Amino acid sequence: MSERDATIERIAVIGAGAMGAGIAQTAAAAGLPVTMIDVDEAAIARGARTIAGSLDRSVKKGTLSSDDAGAISARVTGTTDFARVADSDLVIEAAFEDEAVKRDIFRRLDAACPPPTILASNTSSISITVLGAATNRPDRVIGMHFFNPVPMMSLVEIVRGARTSDVTHAATETLARALGKTPVAVRDYPGFVSNRILMPMLNEAIFCLMEGVADRDAIDTVMKLGMAHPMGPLQLADFIGLDVCLSIMEVLHRGLGDDKYRPCPLLRQMVAAGKLGRKSGDGFYSYAPK
Ligand code: NAD
Repeated sequence: MSERDATIERIAVIGAGAMGAGIAQTAAAAGLPVTMIDVDEAAIARGARTIAGSLDRSVKKGTLSSDDAGAISARVTGTTDFARVADSDLVIEAAFEDEAVKRDIFRRLDAACPPPTILASNTSSISITVLGAATNRPDRVIGMHFFNPVPMMSLVEIVRGARTSDVTHAATETLARALGKTPVAVRDYPGFVSNRILMPMLNEAIFCLMEGVADRDAIDTVMKLGMAHPMGPLQLADFIGLDVCLSIMEVLHRGLGDDKYRPCPLLRQMVAAGKLGRKSGDGFYSYAPK
């Protein structure tokens, strides 16, 4: 791929978790060969099962033929061999939401990939400019923030770091469209647009509960029936994970320096108590074990 003709024909995904597997499935469904790389063999097997399960549901619904499902699965190759990133025109990192982990991955991607390769991150809150600074190609580092579940959700926030080039931005937008998504351009400020608006709303709902303004069901009902939200804010916070909500509120508070982003003490207390929402079986609601 040259700087002039930034066509993306093959991608790699780092991390075979919920997001990595969803991104790999979506790219393979759009006809692109995908290498899905993880440090953990078991995670790759889980990622492949997630993809197979999702395709199977589409076949059962009659929205996908079993031949097409087989072809999509066959386009995804899972491996723990990091060096395989070198075959790709664009790499999308979807590993843990930890700045040190991501900086190390970007440094290694920069060393392993040919100079034209675009390095994208699916981070929800970490600065793209900071990840770009871990490489010698900050002009080719960009955010591609997909939403969960990736095959269903049409938005991708395309996050431009301070040094991201126009060519990188245009190639990434073109790829998002080729994947059947709607790209929206945003600048690299804490929480981008999605979490800057969503997380303070969820945090405020938790303040309402803590202060006794209303009980859990009343708060969720107000937002569902009054604002036509498909899920109430406390239910949504449980779904996202209360630890994830707290960590994003901390990023907003630290990065924007305004006390309006202070995390609610009840949110801190629940995370300290291990009540993380759906994934721990207990949050604002209780969940039966899977
Ligand atoms: P996850 O925990 O399900 O998966 C992360 C995967 O990354 C794991 O399989 C892990 O083994 C792997 N991994 C960790 N370090 C690695 C490394 N050095 N090299 C290769 N693989 C490595 O996480 P997730 O929910 O899929 O989230 C991934 C990223 O996507 C995070 O940055 C998160 O903030 C972002 N994100 C998540 C959501 C969501 O709703 N889950 C939505 C948008 C963005």
